[in-house]
Formats: sequence, C-alpha cells, structure tokens
Amino acid sequence: MRVVSGVVCPFCGCCCDDIEVILEDNRVYDVRNACALGASKFIGYERHRNIKPLIRENGELVETSLDEAIERAADILANASYPLLYGWSNTSCEAIRVGLELAEEVGGVIDNTTTVCHGPSILAIQEVGIPACTLGQIRHRADLIIYWGSNPWSSHPRHIERYTALAEGRFQKSAWKKYLSRLILESARKKRYRVASLTFKSAIAERFFREENEWILPPPEERKLVIVDVQRTRSADLADIFIKVKPNEDYEVLQALRALIRDEDLDVDEVAGVPIEKLEHLADLMVNARFGILFFGLGLTMSIGKSRNIEAAIKLTRDLNRYTKFLIMPMRGHFNVTGANVVFTWQTGYPYAVDFSHGYPRYNPGETSAVDILDRGDADAALVIASDPVSSFPRRAVENLVKNPLIVIDPCLTPTALMADVVIPSAFVGIEAEGTTYRMDHVPLPLKKIVEPPLGVLSDEEILEKILRRVREKKRSAS
Ligand code: SF4
Repeated sequence: MRVVSGVVCPFCGCCCDDIEVILEDNRVYDVRNACALGASKFIGYERHRNIKPLIRENGELVETSLDEAIERAADILANASYPLLYGWSNTSCEAIRVGLELAEEVGGVIDNTTTVCHGPSILAIQEVGIPACTLGQIRHRADLIIYWGSNPWSSHPRHIERYTALAEGRFQKSAWKKYLSRLILESARKKRYRVASLTFKSAIAERFFREENEWILPPPEERKLVIVDVQRTRSADLADIFIKVKPNEDYEVLQALRALIRDEDLDVDEVAGVPIEKLEHLADLMVNARFGILFFGLGLTMSIGKSRNIEAAIKLTRDLNRYTKFLIMPMRGHFNVTGANVVFTWQTGYPYAVDFSHGYPRYNPGETSAVDILDRGDADAALVIASDPVSSFPRRAVENLVKNPLIVIDPCLTPTALMADVVIPSAFVGIEAEGTTYRMDHVPLPLKKIVEPPLGVLSDEEILEKILRRVREKKRSAS
C-alpha cells in the first residue's frame, strides 16, 4: 500500500488540501481527513464511469475510437455558426484555458456554471466591489462568523471545521466542545419535540420547542457563530444565534441592519419575521466584533432580489468597516468554479457568459448566458464539459440543447451524455489528472494525479487540445 498525502479534494469550493489517499494496485483503497462527500468522490470515482468514446448512429450511441470521436466533435464545432461551450467548473484551469481558445476559434459563446449559481453575486461585485480576504485569515482572526442563506454543514462539510467556528486559529480558539455539546442537546430537543408532537396538538408542541430555543451567547472574547436562513438547518443547530427570515425578504433584513448600524431608529416591531430587538442585538454584535466575516450562499443569491441582495450585503460590510473590520465571501460550490471565473477573466476580461461571435469577447449576462441562449434557441451546436445541464437547466433550454448536435466530455455517463451525439470519456481531474484549481477565496492549489487513468482515457486538457487542433486544420483547409 502507498499513502499519498497533501492531496487537494476535487469536490467543493473548500478544496481541502490535507487529504491522505491510501492506494493499492493503482486503486484508491481508503481516504483520510475527507468529509463524507469528499471520501465518496475518491472511493467511488470509478463506479458508473464511462471509458469508451461513443457517437450516435441511427439514433443509438455506439462505441467508436477516440480519433473518430474527436473528428466528429471537430466537424460539429467547425460547421456551427453559433456554438455554446458550457460547464468548466469541475475541471482544471489548464483545460479552461484551452476551452477559451476553442471558443474564440469557433466564434461561439463560452459560459460556466456561475451562470446558474453565483452569477448575481458577480454582477453585484462588479457594481460595488468586495472587501475580501483568505480563509486562512478568517481561521486565525475572525471572532464573528455569519453564514447567510447557506448550510455549510451539508454543502461544504469541512468549512466550519477548517476555517471558521471549529477551527483552532492563532488568535482565536476553537470552541468545538461547546458546539459538539450543543449539537447533542439539539438532537435531544428534536427528539423531545417529536414525542411532544405525538402527545400534544402541534401548536403546543411548537411552543415547547420555541421556548427552549433562546439565544445563549458565549463570553465576549469567544468566537460567535450566526446563521441567517429561511429554515432551521443542521448548521443552525450548531450556531450561537439562529435568525429565521421569511423567504425572499433577506433584502429588507439587510437594509434594516444597515439602518441600525447607522444608529437610525426603525419604527416597526419586526422585519421579515425577525423581531427588531433581535436585529438590534445582531447589529451590536457586528459593530463590536474585532474581525467579522459574512459568508453568503445561494439562499441569498438566488432568492428574490438576486444581485441586489448581494449589493445590500456588501454595502452592509462597507458600513461596518467604519467601525471595525468586516469582510464578505461567497460560498462557491464546485471545486474550480472560482478558477473558471479567474481564467475567463484573465483571457477575456469577463468572468462568465463570454460571446466571441463578433470576433472579440462580449459580455452581457441575460443575453450571452447559457440558459438565455438555449431558451431563445440561438445556439446551433454545443459542447458540454464536466457538467450536466440536462439535469439542472429549465425544460425549454434542455429541449433546445439536445435538438442540435451535442458533444459531451465527461468521465461519467450523465443524463446530458446520454442525450449527446458525441461522448468523449475523460480522466477525473484531481484523481487521474493533475492541474490547478482555485479555492473559494481565490487561492490557487495544485491538483494531484494519484492514480493512472484507464488506458486510452485522456485528460480534459488533452482532449480539448486535440479538438482545437483539428478545428484549426479544418478551417485552414476550408479557406
Ligand atoms: Fe472535499 Fe469539500 Fe469535504 Fe473538503 S469539505 S473534503 S473539499 S467535499
């Protein structure tokens, strides 16, 4: 057996870089330090995978050679007048760089999954800027941590442990014993509530639950964890303060907090279901923090208000910086969605939804973003890499995606791959292929190749380079 240490997990935007992978005969035998999500990626990566290139013949996907699949893909792209190249958040920065060259060569549109997650956050950041920092600074210094519209316990399981409340920082102590006992207490409470709801009418049982659900704040010198969300999550069970906001009314709460921080009186009893005393209390905590951080997730980005919610959150941190140090960071999902934005911006000046059809990069989300292009039926071909839009896009967009020639580059046979005309299997980035990824705080990290890919399976970067070369040859011979 061989142990590879210092492996970066290619799953979520935390990009944990302390993973140890135990190998036996070029296979992953076990994983240490990863959460359940990360471990399942390493241990189960070769299950359900595809290693054969496929092309569609008479309505059926049939096996073919890699050269034939590359040739067919190059044909589709070279003959399309407005192809869409979509995905990119689950691959390496090196592959994204080649993808951008390919998009420019074929005069198409290239977009990444930001378009359906933190796109509104990027629009807000472009409007008002962002006070940012690294996760390392937060780990060592943050004494007030707020997650808004995000449930890190489920979506980024090691975020709290590695970077915030449970992390042992240089200037901030971990309070894991306190949080662990709170979790145990919360599950006991939930059990009691379930028993109470079987015995009493639900309204009485609710009261039982709520009465016990008071704010218990740690001493001033200790770290505090606040969760703001529309429902009580596992992360909320852990928190010192949980604030439940009515769905789609986050904007009102953010603006109310801004007013309270500026010492303005609010002549109302509650905002979005939150009693004004609670908001005053939170505003006090924010102003008196020495180093505060607000992490926000899709609950804020994708609820009504979208980019305006994020603008309000950024302006809230800007107001707070008149009194103390306060920063803000989006909770990015895919392990290299930040890298996709970074590489897109280096090469074109824009982070997503880049249109090369005029011969130069244009950026107008809402017009040049993947869902809008597909919804209008503008694209006449598509290449999807490391993504599964058939499972996540609106129905009309999917119908327009699959009615035209579709190329999929992916290690697995996803629903999108099953609808494609050309399927090219690729190596798993971060397991079978190396590369670079960007953590959610824009820190670049090297992805390791820890096992050999199956014979004949290339990395995304190599496949894209082959397609690009053939497209160029075809265009040269046609002109
Ligand atoms: Fe991987 Fe994310 Fe879990 Fe870290 S938190 S081990 S990056 S899935």
